[in-house]
Amino acid sequence: MTTKADPMLQSCDLCGCQNAVQVHLSEEVLRKVSGMQGLSADEFPEWCWKGAVLSNEESVEHGPILG
Ligand SMILES: [Zn+2]
Repeated sequence: MTTKADPMLQSCDLCGCQNAVQVHLSEEVLRKVSGMQGLSADEFPEWCWKGAVLSNEESVEHGPILG
């Protein structure tokens, strides 16, 4: 049994994460994990939830400061 969301929740070859799992993790945890893996936001593939969260967080940080 599959769902339409499955392609979005595939595991990531780069960091070995399961998107279905890590979507439930906090940004803090995702940052820690990526830090331990030595990976920065733009190194994650576009389907990786971790990369999406980290790159989103960066743009959020830059926005208000310039505002
Ligand atoms: Zn990943």
